[in-house]
Order: sequence, then C-alpha cells, then structure tokens
Amino acid sequence: MDTLDSFEKVNPKRPLIFFIIPVAVLVAVALILVSLYEKERPQISIVSDMARIGATATAEISLSDRRSGLQSVEVSLSQGRITRVLLRKTYPRRGVLRRYGPRKAVEKFTINLLPFKFRDGKAILEIAVRDYSFSNWMAGNLSRVRYDVILDTRPPLISRDGGSRYIISGGSGAVAFHANEPLRRYGVEINDTFFPGIAISRQGRPGYGVIFAVPYDTKAITRARLIAFDFAGNRGELPLSLIMRHSRLKTDRINIPDSFLDRKIPEFRSYYPELQSIDDKVKAFVEINNRIRRENSARIKEITRRVSPELMWQGRFLRLPRSSRRAAFAEHRTYYYKGKKIDAQVHLGMDLASVQQAKVPAANNGVVAFAGYMGIYGNTVIIDHGGGVFSLYAHLSQIGVDEGKKVVRGEVIALSGSTGMAGGDHLHFSMLVNGIFVNPLEWWDENWLNLNISGYLR
Ligand SMILES: [Zn+2]
Repeated sequence: MDTLDSFEKVNPKRPLIFFIIPVAVLVAVALILVSLYEKERPQISIVSDMARIGATATAEISLSDRRSGLQSVEVSLSQGRITRVLLRKTYPRRGVLRRYGPRKAVEKFTINLLPFKFRDGKAILEIAVRDYSFSNWMAGNLSRVRYDVILDTRPPLISRDGGSRYIISGGSGAVAFHANEPLRRYGVEINDTFFPGIAISRQGRPGYGVIFAVPYDTKAITRARLIAFDFAGNRGELPLSLIMRHSRLKTDRINIPDSFLDRKIPEFRSYYPELQSIDDKVKAFVEINNRIRRENSARIKEITRRVSPELMWQGRFLRLPRSSRRAAFAEHRTYYYKGKKIDAQVHLGMDLASVQQAKVPAANNGVVAFAGYMGIYGNTVIIDHGGGVFSLYAHLSQIGVDEGKKVVRGEVIALSGSTGMAGGDHLHFSMLVNGIFVNPLEWWDENWLNLNISGYLR
C-alpha cells in the first residue's frame, strides 16, 4: 500500500492541531469580516405627522439598525434648488471593540422655517441614515427616504359668525366661527382656561362652535380669545369681547345638629375607613366637608372635561317636576355646630325638594358618563350632553342607569334620596361646562338657551 504510506508521511496524525487552529482562526476572521461587511440597511420611520410643516414644527423620527448599528443621520428639506439641513448627527461607536453604533435612536428636533427662503407649497423632506458596516468601501449602508411635504407658514384666518357678548359669573356662553382652512385644534381661552370646540353645521354651513363658562368666583375677564391651529400647527387667534356681570352673592347659615352627625358620620366611615381614626364627630364632619369634597370635585372635573363632538340636547334642560328650591347656585354656606362656626363652603348646584324618592328625569338627551357613589354627593349620576355640557344628579336613593347608556330627555334615571352630605330627601342638581360648575337657571330657560347657546351653534 504505497499510496497509504506516502499519505501518512505527508499528513502525520501528530500535527493535526496545527491544522485545526489556523482553520478556526480563519473561520473566526471570516465571521467577523462577514459581520463587518453586512449589507443590511438601517430602518427609518417617521413618528410625528409631517405631511404639512408649519412655520415652526416639532418632528420626531425613529431609526434602527440591527447589525452594525447607526453611524449618522441627516434630515434636509429642499424646494427647487434650495436645500437646508434640519438635523445632522453622528453617533459614537460603542462596545468593547468599538465596532458598533447604537441599534436604535429616536430623534426629536424643531423645524423653524422662517429664516429659510422657502415659499409655501410643495417641498421634499429627505432623511439619510448610514450604519457602521464596512461595506461600500467603509462608508456603511445608506438608507435614504424622500417624502413630499407641504410647507404652510400662514396662520389660519378666523372669522366670528356670532356669539355671546355678555356672561354672568358662574354663567355659560357660546361662539361660532369659521376659518379659511381646515383646523386640527381650536377653542376659546378665557383667563387661563381653555375650552375645546367642536365642528358644527350652522344653517347648513360647516364651521366650528365652542361652549364656554366663567367660574362663579371670577373677579374679571382679563383675557378672552379664540385660538385655532391648522394641520401644519400654525396658530391663529381672534380676541373676543366678552363683558362679565357679577351675579349677586347669596349666603346661607347651616346648623349641624348632633342627630345629623350621628346618622351621617357612620355612613361616611363605611366608605372611607380612614375616618375611623377621627373620634370627634365635628372634626370628622369638617374632614369630609373639605378633603373628601375636594377629592370628589377633582373626580367630577375629570369626568366632565370631555368634549363629545355631537350636541345631543334638544330644547331646554328639565328641572325636577313639582319641586321647590331649597338652595341656590354659588350660595356661600357657613356651617355652625352649637352656635359655633365650624366650616364654610360654596354650594355649586341647586337643591330641589319634592316628595320622598321622587322620580328624577334626565334633564336632556345624552349618555351616562358616571353612575355610582361619589362621597359628599352620595349616589350620583352624571350625563354627558355633548359639546362639553354635563348635568349631575346627587343624593339619590336609587340609580336606574349604567355608565354608557343613552338616555332621552325626561326618561327616569333615578329616585331622589339623602345619600352623601344631605340632611333630608332632595335632589342636588348641577350643570357643568368643560369641568366648571355653572348656574343651572340659564340651562332651564328655553329663551336664554336659544339666544345664548343653541342659536349660535345650530
Ligand atoms: Zn346641594
């Protein structure tokens, strides 16, 4: 077997290790080179909507590269022969051998078109991203995307079609307007409160409407204006002349008898176990009338801040039938225990007394936004009527509707009672606009409603 002999001479078994090591090294080097020369391109995605770019805009893009990582990004805008760089960034190498860039990056940047010499109209937004691959003669893989965009630096022009000129403290108002281009966000700002608007059709013409209010304790209207943003984010505004009249201050003195505390404190302790630690029943009352009242107000505000796009109400809001008024809106109440002043609060609704367990009708068409227990308000129903308008029914003995249910004007939704901070059976009725308690007298008055709200919005 000559051939075998000669083979064993050329490939002796002993130095096999000298063969395995170089092969392993070669494989390792090849693997590293393959990984460094990878051909996979970086990924680009636009997070913020950039179809229309306003005078100033904030943009957000998300970049990723799974293999050699991100090396650099450049965002530019061009129109005709003008090109302007909006963002240019290089990512440092990282890792033990400094071979990779970051796998992911989110870039937020501001675009300010005003210093550039672009015209309003079509332009091209380009995003170019490189990775740290050795391919393309060490330049890396390049991803480049181009988007057609519209540059729009002009603010929307707002025209007022009609609206309230006078408002009382604790009162409501409305304004209708249209604009020379579609709007993304709009509303009325009064002092520091923003009231979002809704799209309406006024006498068959599309436009926008806003229902607003001034809180009962407003001293003066220092700022009232319509604000509108177009789809490029440009902001237009129009001052509103709104004259506020102060409504007369009403006061009431409330005596808190032991019989009331002995009945109510245990009821509250069952819902708020932390009240167990307050032995003194007057102190417990003050705690309920302050901290729990504030918590309830915050929750009510949260529920009634929504502006549903459809005006569901028709005609005036209903008042509890055959009832007498026991307390008015924005009544300043001082509470006394055995002749001593213990607390002071403002009553932000109407107290209406009828028979025991009187049938409570929905004041108008709407959707039940809340049905349940709400601290000092006891068992409570809140109805969303659209456009930011809500009605609230408190101290109920029984609730007959669930959250999300559509109700029609006059439909019985509950029975009156004395749950929560109520001495006897009555209905506490409140109206709210965008989370602000307003005077229900206006909403009960067909004439007022047509002149000040419905007339402008329909
Ligand atoms: Zn009340």
